[in-house]
Amino acid sequence: MKQEQTFHQTRRLGQNFLYDPNILRKICTVAELSKEDHVIEIGPGKGSLTEHLSRSSGKVTAIEKDKRLRNFLDEKFGEFPNVRLVYEDILKSRLRHFSCGGKMKLVSNLPYNISTPILLRVLDEKEFFSKIVVMLQKEVAERISSVRGRKSYGSLSVLLQSCFSVEIAFGVSRRAFHPSPDVDSAVVILDPLESPAYPASIEKTFRAVTRHAFSSRRKTIRNSLGNFFDKETVEQALSDSGIEPGRRAESLSIEEFVKLAYGFHKAGQ
Ligand code: SAM
Repeated sequence: MKQEQTFHQTRRLGQNFLYDPNILRKICTVAELSKEDHVIEIGPGKGSLTEHLSRSSGKVTAIEKDKRLRNFLDEKFGEFPNVRLVYEDILKSRLRHFSCGGKMKLVSNLPYNISTPILLRVLDEKEFFSKIVVMLQKEVAERISSVRGRKSYGSLSVLLQSCFSVEIAFGVSRRAFHPSPDVDSAVVILDPLESPAYPASIEKTFRAVTRHAFSSRRKTIRNSLGNFFDKETVEQALSDSGIEPGRRAESLSIEEFVKLAYGFHKAGQ
């Protein structure tokens, strides 16, 4: 109790806590939890979501970086046999290490300052997850669910949508958090596709080509890629994939990025 009274939330750790029971319930509902599920939660904070997750699922592993929360969380969940608390930095951990064999669900109100690196980690370890439900800054939620032609469409949209169906479940006002962040939020559902849009053999090339293509958004795809690959390779790959060199990355569909990756892969990249 003493711990709770003296705890000062840290902006650097994205500590905006969520207490609204309706939103907490809605998160569990969209995650379609059952007693069969093992849920990973990144950043339990004061444990309000953890508590809901533990009631709706079979097992919760909650990973918290801020060790100042340790006494409070250990005490709060001492009587919850299905909650395991781990105190470490998620960016220094492998998500797969928390698996007990089967697939896991990731359900979290993410620390917004590191939401992109976390999403990229999820992408690296996608085969360990059956569903991902995360609260994100609204702008990031829009970016990852964006479609080609929109300003918000970028490498993160392409990389994630090539492996997951991405859907914004509902928006959440900044007023739902304590303290209120400077931005609104949204809960996003990522459901793994049956198989990614590309074969494993070109994954590395697909990721590199996608990232490089969006590196200078105002430039044509030929020029953006020309900053990273030699000119002949770029011309050959564009020609092999049937993509007009004067187009911009934001006009390319995921299928076209896959074709382009095949082109570069063929050219030895
Ligand atoms: N789940 C709680 C809730 O909904 O009220 C807290 C969410 S708060 C937005 C993010 C939490 O992530 C904080 O508790 C913060 O300490 C934790 N956190 C920040 N960086 C982390 C990291 N690298 N690894 C693990 N937890 C982290």
